[in-house]
Amino acid sequence: MSLPVVFIPEYIDKAGKDLLTARYRCIAPWFGGAARLDAPREDAMRSHLYEADAVIVRVFTISADDMRRAENLKVVVKHGVGFDNIDVAAVTARGIPVAYTPTGNTNAVAEHAMALMLSLMRRIVPAGEALRAGRFADRNDFQGEELEGKTLGIVGVGRIGSLVARKAAFGFGMNVIAFDPYVSPERYDGPAVLTDFETVMKTADIVTFHVPLTRKTRRMVDARTLAFVRPSCRIVNTSRGGVIAQEALTEALHDGRIAGAALDVFEEEPIPPDHPLCRLPNVVLTPHIGGLTQTAMRRTALLAAQAVIDALEGRTPEYIVNQP
Ligand code: NAD
Repeated sequence: MSLPVVFIPEYIDKAGKDLLTARYRCIAPWFGGAARLDAPREDAMRSHLYEADAVIVRVFTISADDMRRAENLKVVVKHGVGFDNIDVAAVTARGIPVAYTPTGNTNAVAEHAMALMLSLMRRIVPAGEALRAGRFADRNDFQGEELEGKTLGIVGVGRIGSLVARKAAFGFGMNVIAFDPYVSPERYDGPAVLTDFETVMKTADIVTFHVPLTRKTRRMVDARTLAFVRPSCRIVNTSRGGVIAQEALTEALHDGRIAGAALDVFEEEPIPPDHPLCRLPNVVLTPHIGGLTQTAMRRTALLAAQAVIDALEGRTPEYIVNQP
């Protein structure tokens, strides 16, 4: 009997690929070559999809046309979260599960949020730049602030937000308040005090966002919201750029109506390097790397591989997005 075929068009960590290679015939065209192929030569590779029993995708697209041609396919696995590259309806219509790996980078993003907070508070970026420019002696200009005793506001206490709450409260001695209309105070068992959005924005020293981008969360921070935050407030966003009206934020930062912002995600990605935000001194920017650690890549690859194994062995993968 021939082995099931698993098609892996983009780089995943070796641990996940090894797990699959031990059981199946893996087609991973990038393997052994340029290890980090994020912009796959999609069309050249697409024919492999049509012989596959399972596929693991990152940004590789799966269309309705693919689903007509991929006759052997039994599972589509998203390495990560966010399914805009997969026609979920077309996969579901074929009775096939779409699995995903929502927990693979939870800790990575939570730690990145903490890193951004610390970077803002301790002015790590401008202080380091001063040193490199020969201004070591200017160190008194870089007096920072401490997290301990400050109030952290968390918007969205799901997987990432609730982990940030624990790290901030138990690790850094912060007071934590949070807003999440879908989490009831009876069910929530973390250290944050649940409250309303306005209270979070009005009282927190730092507000960090951990919500999905939805109709309700799109631009939930806009000029109106920024009018009632305290001038000492700092905003951290590792969720999705669209949650914050970037223009309004840029203006508020420029005018000193808020103290700082640290952003890993942007309304438009990549953010143009000449964007006004990139010129502001009280801003920390990272290129959507919140979830990108070696540990998270390994964990995600293992979760994706396990989803393939579960599906090919007749079990329902742990996390699926559809009801095939
Ligand atoms: P999750 O689904 O576990 O948690 C999201 C939380 O947001 C839920 O508790 C939900 O109730 C809450 N929420 C939904 N709408 C809300 C609203 N209007 N107001 C307040 N809360 C609301 O998701 P997660 O795993 O914690 O991830 C959160 C987000 O982080 C993801 O949606 C994704 O956009 C982002 N993310 C970013 C990176 C990165 O690299 N920067 C990596 C992974 C995830």
